Amino acid sequence: MLRFQNTLSGKVEEFVPLTKGQVRMYTCGPTVYDFAHIGNFRTFVFCDILRRHLRLSGYQLLHVMNLTDVDDKTINNSRAAGLPLAEYTQRYSEAFLEDCQRLQIERPEKIVRATDHIQDMAHTIRLLEEKGFTYRRDNSIYYSIEKFPGYGKLSKIDLSGIRSGARVDQDEYAKADARDFVLWKAPKPDEPFWETEVGPGRPGWHIECSVMATKYLGDTLDIHVGGTDLAFPHHENEIAQAEALTGKTFSRYWLHCEHLVVEGQKMSKSLGNFYTLRDLLGKGYSAAAIRYLLAAVPYRKQLNFTMDGLRQAAASIERLENFRFRMTTMPFPEGENVEIAAKAAAFPEAFQNALDDDLNTAQAMGVLFELVRDANTSIDAGQFRKGNITAILKCLDRWNEIFQVLPASEAGNETDKKTVEGTLSDTDVEQKLQDRRNARKARDFALADRIRDELIAAGILVEDTAEGARWRRKS
Ligand code: AMP
Ligand code: ZN
Repeated sequence: MLRFQNTLSGKVEEFVPLTKGQVRMYTCGPTVYDFAHIGNFRTFVFCDILRRHLRLSGYQLLHVMNLTDVDDKTINNSRAAGLPLAEYTQRYSEAFLEDCQRLQIERPEKIVRATDHIQDMAHTIRLLEEKGFTYRRDNSIYYSIEKFPGYGKLSKIDLSGIRSGARVDQDEYAKADARDFVLWKAPKPDEPFWETEVGPGRPGWHIECSVMATKYLGDTLDIHVGGTDLAFPHHENEIAQAEALTGKTFSRYWLHCEHLVVEGQKMSKSLGNFYTLRDLLGKGYSAAAIRYLLAAVPYRKQLNFTMDGLRQAAASIERLENFRFRMTTMPFPEGENVEIAAKAAAFPEAFQNALDDDLNTAQAMGVLFELVRDANTSIDAGQFRKGNITAILKCLDRWNEIFQVLPASEAGNETDKKTVEGTLSDTDVEQKLQDRRNARKARDFALADRIRDELIAAGILVEDTAEGARWRRKS
């Protein structure tokens, strides 16, 4: 039974979509004012794992994600860069989608830009005006939160200290500053604006998402996703806007991804404690290791980012690659080991159960590593059999369909070492392995490790077995 921790109810609940077999889901996408940092990508990798798990559990998906290409931050940065807003945000929208591809984040069914929906937003604001939820001051339009009785139900905010009619113009503000928020901002010098049915101006950030979400997904979504910092005020305001008009529940499940933190602080641009994906790739880490690290901690728990964690993630992937290599290259005796067969047969259910449990990725990873450990032990004891290979490789593939950190399955084919071109020829690799053996014999382990690192950097995976070192090229 699939269940999620729903921020709205504050409980773990069984997931039952509104329409059987279908999931309508919305993710607050990036604000395209700069490169996204890996804290942002923690949330997007979580969404991706959610997507993949739903799809592989048999649901048909309609998943919409927006790109926030007009708000306070994009306007400020484009002005500082001396570029028109659209040109400026286009650059970072493309960079974001490229980064997603590197991290194996699937494309949602629909990606929508806020600036393509300005008239829809103005129209919604007009309807909110007609229903009496708004007021105008200095040509801007504000949402009066006291008009919406459910205000605060998502973030459980205490509204007792709030002054009626106090307003906030910024898109982002803290819980302590909860007050009437801006729906439509009057034109300002040096700011882009649009002519619309509510007058000239530009939308506030919060109206963007509720308008795009309901336009493509209907009045009631199944799941709304974002980082935990969005619960207040962004999502609270989305609910107030959408439900004031429809009178229906805006989203039935709200899933919030906890932050990636560095020394206890949220990774963020404003604190300056951030790495972009490009920073880390530039330091030589692989996108797979970064994805692994981001996925390894269940989304409702904070993830403490360290370089050491990233190195461990790379080592875990290597362990799995080596294991797969063993499976596809070692000459096992005919027959089947019944214990291993039973463990492989139990894997799919254990894996599904872990993910069904509010996407417990740590457990889902653990289930595979346990199987790998058992298989390795059985290999080392000479008890593994040829007849177990296919089932074990299937478990690896099933796992990788979610985690996406191993190269696509080689379907049991041994890499043809002679035909693959690389930076090192086969003879070079053999020579380096000989040098490494010599270094080890001379107990110069530092040199041996260095040679191994050089081989890894050249895309050569080395596995030490009882029969000596084996190698293959990373696909
Ligand atoms: P933004 O581009 O700032 O709108 O953020 C995009 C997404 O990243 C939002 O869902 C944020 O909640 C999320 N986010 C921002 N910082 C972090 C962080 N340190 N850890 C996890 N998610 C984050
Ligand atoms: Zn949003």
